[in-house]
Amino acid sequence: GTATPLAELDASLLITTLTTSPRPVPAPGSPEQASQKVCTDHMITVRWTAQHGWEAPSLHPYGPLSLMPTASCLHYATECFEGMKLYRGHDDKLRLFRPELNCNRMLMSTNRIALPSFPPTELLKLIVKLCATDGPKWLPKSRPGEFLYIRPTMIASDPALGVQRPKEALLFIILTCFPRMDPTSGGLRLLASRDDMVRAWPGGFGYAKVGANYGPSLVAQGEARQMGYEQILWLFGEECNVTEAGASNFFVVWRTLEGKLQLVTAPLRERIILDGVTRRSVLELARARLGKRCGALEGIEIVERKFSMFEIEEAVKEGRLIEAFAAGTAFFIAPVGHIHFRGKDLDIPIKEGESGAYTKVIKNWLKGIMWGKEQHEWGYVV
Ligand code: PMP
Repeated sequence: GTATPLAELDASLLITTLTTSPRPVPAPGSPEQASQKVCTDHMITVRWTAQHGWEAPSLHPYGPLSLMPTASCLHYATECFEGMKLYRGHDDKLRLFRPELNCNRMLMSTNRIALPSFPPTELLKLIVKLCATDGPKWLPKSRPGEFLYIRPTMIASDPALGVQRPKEALLFIILTCFPRMDPTSGGLRLLASRDDMVRAWPGGFGYAKVGANYGPSLVAQGEARQMGYEQILWLFGEECNVTEAGASNFFVVWRTLEGKLQLVTAPLRERIILDGVTRRSVLELARARLGKRCGALEGIEIVERKFSMFEIEEAVKEGRLIEAFAAGTAFFIAPVGHIHFRGKDLDIPIKEGESGAYTKVIKNWLKGIMWGKEQHEWGYVV
């Protein structure tokens, strides 16, 4: 027989139903804003079935999802998501930051867990539509420097317990309120992971933004919090190679034994870390602007390579470790002041309440682009 082709995801088919009971926007610094429980007035959902493909997307009032208890995602972690932000600029404009990278990464993640494909450009159009609907109210012009957190998600919704490729899925996009970022004092305190708590491994799925990477990390994260640390520094293998810090990529600035100044981060090649948008942007900006002397800053070599906790330990001991920072959308560029590894405390020499000079200049460049102080192709005006 002639099978009808499956419908592609098509943002132009969006059906809009605006809310009749709009909710108040939490005040800056309020507990509601910090709770990460408050979402904006609307959300977008799109259903997919193996039979017909993507249905018309729907923008409608924010509210609960309806799923059967047998839904695949509730049993087999058939779920993936993205994390990005909508920024209210100092020029009054609303901006996304390199959103096409998140949409491409979402497609890569869906492929890893047998969820349906889609054109990333259509996902981007839907994200932009939701941001344009709720952004103006939920990020008032009077509050430049604020942002909303955008969470595109896909789940398999098959109402059947069979362990198999999903035949039904739901794509949804929500916007949540997020507290303004506090200036860090003294830097992040990281606890290096133990051998019995491994986040990702070669051949696994550490490179994908699937929920299955996060749930199992919460035991270690909870222990770290209890011991007075903010995040886990995830190590891998007997060499104790450094991979990521919490849900952020991890960078150090050190001087090699030969006296070279380097910015170092773990490579993507083994596929055990996430290809962070912030990571990529840090590397690209550093390559473009810090390769040669920049103002008072000495030129720095940019290196993606495996590096171990033992090398960090040695560099700290010999006074060669200059800066360390975590880089990700949620907590942006966060200077690291302290790492606990195998019973020893390693202090990274950042001045109280400050970040290192390289961390600071990179952070300020990114901020400038996100909030529109620097006009740059990475800033995507909504
Ligand atoms: N690593 C992990 C495990 C993450 O969850 C995130 C957050 N998405 C990052 C790194 C940072 O990625 P990005 O800069 O794209 O937010």
